[in-house]
Amino acid sequence: MDEYGNTGEGRATRRDEAVRAAVEQGLLGPDSPIVGLLDVTGIRESAAELRAAFAEVTAPGTPVLHAFAVKATPLVPVLRLLREEGIGAEVASPGELALARAAGLSPAQTVLDSPAKTPAELREALALGIAVNADNPQELDRIDGLVRSAVSRSPLGIRVNPQVGGGSIGATSTATATSKFGVALRDEGAREWVVRAYLDRPWLSRLHAHTGSQGIPLSLMTQGVAETYALAEEINRRIGRPQIDTIDIGGGLPVNFASDVTAPTYAEYARALRDAVPGLFDGRYGLVTEFGRSLLAKHGTIVARVEYAKSAGGRAVAVTHAGVQVATRTVYVPGSWPLRITAYDGKGRPKSGPEVVQDVAGPACFAGDLLAEGRALPLLDQGDYAAALDTGAYYFAHHYAYNSLARPGIYGFVPDRAGGARFATVRDPQTLASIVAESGGAHAGALTTLHAPGSR
Ligand SMILES: *Cc1c(COP(=O)(O)O)cnc(C)c1O
Repeated sequence: MDEYGNTGEGRATRRDEAVRAAVEQGLLGPDSPIVGLLDVTGIRESAAELRAAFAEVTAPGTPVLHAFAVKATPLVPVLRLLREEGIGAEVASPGELALARAAGLSPAQTVLDSPAKTPAELREALALGIAVNADNPQELDRIDGLVRSAVSRSPLGIRVNPQVGGGSIGATSTATATSKFGVALRDEGAREWVVRAYLDRPWLSRLHAHTGSQGIPLSLMTQGVAETYALAEEINRRIGRPQIDTIDIGGGLPVNFASDVTAPTYAEYARALRDAVPGLFDGRYGLVTEFGRSLLAKHGTIVARVEYAKSAGGRAVAVTHAGVQVATRTVYVPGSWPLRITAYDGKGRPKSGPEVVQDVAGPACFAGDLLAEGRALPLLDQGDYAAALDTGAYYFAHHYAYNSLARPGIYGFVPDRAGGARFATVRDPQTLASIVAESGGAHAGALTTLHAPGSR
């Protein structure tokens, strides 16, 4: 149970109703054996919780932009829904910026953070007035040139890495000593370089850090923000005026993948920040946040049909249509990214019965393509459905084209009044024609007509 007395029960009920309704309405079936489902009610609730958590700890009138990290769920209708809930966008590539713009997000609601921005990307961002955080001294040089050549409304800042350390998952630990992101603050001379950069550039008004994602303890995230705040204070003191007016604290709140309960909550994090860094909330600084996984993960479900149920070496194996193409991290690094699996029968009703240790396998042609290995579940049978929970971020929206498996359709749902669900298409299932086109179909003869001089 979380602090609001929320056991996640509403969430589980909505999910069960949506799975059954998806089968009844034919979104799921023998000919469409895998879908991604998004709980619109849950997404709206998380957005509201985020806004309320920071409203509670900030001084009245503090400008706060919650910019959703688009990479977590890069789907235009999701960005539009979040926009309606007062959430902006943090983008880190030309593609993500295009998605944010397609969703109708304004430059003032958008922050650009990519580690490898080209000159053209920087020029476009500054022309649009989008906030940019420079990752390194060379990027700041490029921005210098652009600022000299044209007026821009873009709020500009520098990303720092407070080097407070990593968490339990190396790949999502962004504040280790050697992380590739930002200016490594504890390196020799780096802090002084950052202070100088602001002294020399009166237009640098923001400071940014994103000190980790899944696997980082709250205390370490808080420490990263505290060190970023201390640096902003030092810079403003040295300059003698509050030149840094906004601190971007990044995202990274971890997600509980073990049950339907949200833990930690945004409220817990916001209060921990206020206790550790009270000055950040006294009204002298505007705030930007960049949460991704914590806004969407718990609102997504992959549902896949069990095509075959078999047995190998005494182990029951359910061969489903969900594997590495939709759960890439889980399949390749199962120890770090375990997913809960629930079993549904052929009509989409929760399956009961004695639990049997079984493998839930995907459709890809390599032995390790398992959503779950040795998991105790009611025995999955041919025509049943297996659901992978908490997959709303960094899963089905992150298709991996192994075996040319088609991207599944994604549907948002809300409960209807009759114990079922209403659906809206978020993304159509990929067609075979699209797979061929994306695989060079228009260039079928390209390689046979290419000859080295004199070879023929
Ligand atoms: C990935 C990323 C985020 C979001 O991280 P989550 O763990 O999904 O909250 C925020 N900011 C930056 C700069 C990122 O790279």
